[in-house]
Amino acid sequence: MKTIMVDMDDVITEGGYLYLINKYFNTNHHKEDTNDFYMYDFIPDRKKFFKYFINNNLYDYSKLIDNAVKVLKYLNGKYEVYIATAYIYNEIPKESGKIALYKHNYLVKNLPFIDPHNFIFINNKGLLNCDIKIDDKLDNLKNAHIKILFTAFHNKNLSDSYLKQLGIIRANNWLEIKNIIDRLEKECE
Ligand SMILES: [Mg+2]
Repeated sequence: MKTIMVDMDDVITEGGYLYLINKYFNTNHHKEDTNDFYMYDFIPDRKKFFKYFINNNLYDYSKLIDNAVKVLKYLNGKYEVYIATAYIYNEIPKESGKIALYKHNYLVKNLPFIDPHNFIFINNKGLLNCDIKIDDKLDNLKNAHIKILFTAFHNKNLSDSYLKQLGIIRANNWLEIKNIIDRLEKECE
């Protein structure tokens, strides 16, 4: 069976990180207002914030992205689906084990059809070789035959021609992911 690596944050689920930033600083930022992956422009005091952050489960405040569960269920019958997600935050590397636990519990609860043996907690996803990779971060798409960039606030400005040069296909939502994979598989037949 072919393998698919699927990212978690901003691909399957979103919102919890920004919710905690806004709660801590008493602000009302929107993801559309930044291009920074870590939203550092919203975090005036990183040291203080991450001390608070680690003790709050961001996934209690995250929502599933539309159709992610439905399409993953569909793909899970046809492919070996792996969820690959980073959990080390640079400000708190030694305390980040808690984040891995938050992630594990969220995945078990929301994607019960995916075997927990297929959860991969990893920061350098380029090490993984997969047939298909789906991620919102360019670097994470290395070492795949089919590379799908999931549109997110921080990558929306990357041009189609630039992505084409890199052999990357953009998907704006999960129904587009399904269509891209189905179409490319048909072409291979
Ligand atoms: Mg991500």
